Amino acid sequence: MKYLSTRGGEKDLTFKDILFSGLASDGGLYVPDEWPQIDYNALKKIDSYSELALEIIYPFIGEDIKKSELKSLIDNAYAKFSKSKIITFKNLKQREHIVELFNGPTLAFKDFAMQLIVPIFDYYLLQENKKLNLIVATSGDTGSAAINAVHQSSKINIFCLFPKGRISDFQKKQMTTVHGDNIFPIEVDGTFDDCQNIVKSILVDRDFSEEFSIAAVNSINWSRVMIQIVYYFYTLINNNISEDEIINFSVPTGNFGDIYAGYVGIKMGLPVNKLIIATNENDILDRFINSGSYSIEGVTKTTSPSMDIAIASNFERLLFDLLQRSSVMTSEKMNELKNNRSFSVTKEQSNLVKKTFSSRKINQNEVNDLIKETYKEFNYIMDPHTAIGLGASRVLNERGDNNFILGTAHPIKFSDTVEKAIGHPMQSTNEFFEMYKNEEKFYSFMNSAEEVRKVIKDNYSK
Ligand SMILES: *Cc1c(COP(=O)(O)O)cnc(C)c1O
Repeated sequence: MKYLSTRGGEKDLTFKDILFSGLASDGGLYVPDEWPQIDYNALKKIDSYSELALEIIYPFIGEDIKKSELKSLIDNAYAKFSKSKIITFKNLKQREHIVELFNGPTLAFKDFAMQLIVPIFDYYLLQENKKLNLIVATSGDTGSAAINAVHQSSKINIFCLFPKGRISDFQKKQMTTVHGDNIFPIEVDGTFDDCQNIVKSILVDRDFSEEFSIAAVNSINWSRVMIQIVYYFYTLINNNISEDEIINFSVPTGNFGDIYAGYVGIKMGLPVNKLIIATNENDILDRFINSGSYSIEGVTKTTSPSMDIAIASNFERLLFDLLQRSSVMTSEKMNELKNNRSFSVTKEQSNLVKKTFSSRKINQNEVNDLIKETYKEFNYIMDPHTAIGLGASRVLNERGDNNFILGTAHPIKFSDTVEKAIGHPMQSTNEFFEMYKNEEKFYSFMNSAEEVRKVIKDNYSK
């Protein structure tokens, strides 16, 4: 499998190349040059998560890692998930299923990718006897998942940027109480997008990133998308679905990474009708679906902070397909976005998007009510992001399709919001917080790349 940049500046790259550089030097995102085709009926016979992951991921990696070696990396990664099942399902109404993706060590779906990517990095680093300095911008969950995974690595340092006052207390503790010589949490006085911009500015500075052996594991890293394709297949395979049923996935969406993995799944042969973009008040994607205009507005702080972003970075990958994989046109649109803070697509292009995607915005009051009512009716406690997925699914499902809602985080991660909604403390709160009782240690900076660069310079290893 070969990879190229959506903006045309790079092509014919291997999986290893793009794993390490994350963002193309022209500012574009890496995409595979073709979609591997999967025989869905053959996959149906596989019941182990790891085996399924191997079949889906291997075509994207190709000769870069031997299949037997990839198998052991995958087996080890998913052995760290707590329940006997890596994914659990909770059926609320008859055709309404929550796909619980929070059984990993840091209780959000980000563990699926992080627990595997870090060992893949280690695998390459060991071969070359090199070290790596990972940099990541997080709206809360990616950072905790990455720190947990890197903590056990002797080859990797992590510099993790999170927005001040815009993540939950539990998320912050997950990042700042895990002490290690290789762990550097950095609070930035800004939004997630500011953190992301600092990371991007460091990555496109090839001199700096090469000198200090820097790579990124943001949701713009292709390998994360690739790994997240697996659970869409796993969900359908493990839910006895008859062939005539119409299936949709509702996906709480921020950076468009998770839902884009579903889109790639469809390209590979996943039998899904629609992907529902479920957003909070930060609704750039919902506005795009409704108007054909992609336009940046300020960030609103909500009770679903992992989705408080102004720009959905991975959207560029969909745009690239929408523009018939023209890197010239993609670059034009992205330049327009940079200069005018918006661009539009034609009516035909907009209709094409709507063939696969629908969207719905769910506001904070609705989230509160959804958590409260779901608890009353089903005795089930949901986190605010998952609630947005459920809300969007319900509004759009008048026909009674079979809808799967991605449960993106465990409610404990957002206990303040959840406890307010259900009206009393969650049972296991203390037990969970007990895991992160160490003193909090982190850097705290203004919104500027300079101080971040300095921390990297002072602490990197080669
Ligand atoms: C990261 C995250 C999301 C958004 O996922 P994207 O891939 O950025 O669209 C939704 N919910 C939770 C809990 C998250 O951590």
